[in-house]
Formats: sequence, C-alpha cells, structure tokens
Amino acid sequence: MSISASFNPNDFQRLIENHGYNAYWSKAIVCECLENGQPDMHCEYCQGKGWRYLPREHVKLVSTSFTGKQELIVPGLKEPGTVYVTPEIEIIMGYYDKIEFYEIDARHSQVIKMGIEETTATFRPINDLNFVLAGDYVYTETVDFIVTADKHHLKWINPETKPKKGTKISILYLTSPEYLVVDMNHELRSTRVSKGTVNPYTAKMPNQYQLRRIDFVYGHTVNAKREEIKIAESEGLSYD
Ligand SMILES: [Zn+2]
Repeated sequence: MSISASFNPNDFQRLIENHGYNAYWSKAIVCECLENGQPDMHCEYCQGKGWRYLPREHVKLVSTSFTGKQELIVPGLKEPGTVYVTPEIEIIMGYYDKIEFYEIDARHSQVIKMGIEETTATFRPINDLNFVLAGDYVYTETVDFIVTADKHHLKWINPETKPKKGTKISILYLTSPEYLVVDMNHELRSTRVSKGTVNPYTAKMPNQYQLRRIDFVYGHTVNAKREEIKIAESEGLSYD
C-alpha cells in the first residue's frame, strides 16, 4: 500500500497514541565555543561537546523501519545501537537532539572508583543494580552500600567492607537508554491529497529519524508494551 494513497494523519496519531514510546526529547543548540567546526575542549558550557541542550520535553514516538514494519533493528542495516523512529507529526527534530527512552531498560557495565565515602559517578543513572565486584569480592546493596538519591553513586554504609580510596569497582546495572538524532530521513516528504477533497492540498508526512545510542551496550531488554505492538496496525505507515 502506498503511503500517498493510504496516509491519514488521524490514523497515524492514533498509532502513536496507542503504541508509541514515551520519551524525553531535548533540542540541541550549537555552543558558542565552536570555531571552524571544533569545540573548545575546556568550554564551561558544553564541556567540549560543542552542543548544549534545551530543557527536555515529553514526546511519543514509534519505532519504524523503511518497510513500514515496527522493529528495533532494521535487517541489513544492523549497525549496533541504531534505531529508526517517527514522532508525533508536529514534532520536528534536529541533528544531535537527545532522546531518552525512560520506559525501557538497558543493561550497562562500567568501572567506577572509590572515593572517601562514595564512588565516582556512573555514566547513566542506576535504575537497578545487578552486580558490584572488586577483585574477587562481591558487594551487596543495602548491606555494604546504598545507591545515592541522584542514582549516580554508591555510598558505603558498612565501614568494615569499605574499599580503599582509589579502588576500581566493576558494576553492572539497568538504566534507561539515551540516543542522539544522527540523520533526518524523509525530511522533505509531503503528499498531495486529492482523494475526497474539492481542493487538493499538500499534507506534511510524518518524519523518520535515525537515532544512535550514546553509549555502547552489551544487550538490552524492552518493556512488555513493546512486545505487544502489532505490525498489522502499522499498515498505511510505509516508507518508500
Ligand atoms: Zn562550548
């Protein structure tokens, strides 16, 4: 089915409403430190990233592929950490915007270092801690340490098991994944609507964006809601 014949903005909005992910969206704005395409590594505003972010907004979006099927990884384009999404029709995303899928659990592992009472910060907020290891010693949450309120540090509560300052600690945890917009597919898409109308007009089509995960991951799980998505209901949302 061709999108121009079948596309109906109301159907699309309903698809998003019923099957979309809830996510946080932060618009990227280029930092004033950028000169000749290079950010200032010591910039106090962007910490050398070249981009700053506007306050996050709530959006709903569906995961889409070029064939119109909803899936997380597109066969043939299996670049790790890449997904294609389509947000609500009125949303226009830009290069390097950030999208955080706060309903999804992703597993992340990293090394942190012990400070005086707390460890250094984790890369992503800890939603659920799986394993904490230093050498051959396995530490236990609420017995040896607690996760701080900001979800980024382990704070030791057991003085007898407290690692020495500078000790390297391996941790494995669940967090919500964060992505960057890396490409705007079909940005110039619109369709001529003439069927059933006296005056044909040009309707804007939903935008598809390519996202890439900010961090490398070892595996991820998606919530039960994601599993329920029926491909049949995406009929009419096809990209050609
Ligand atoms: Zn800067």
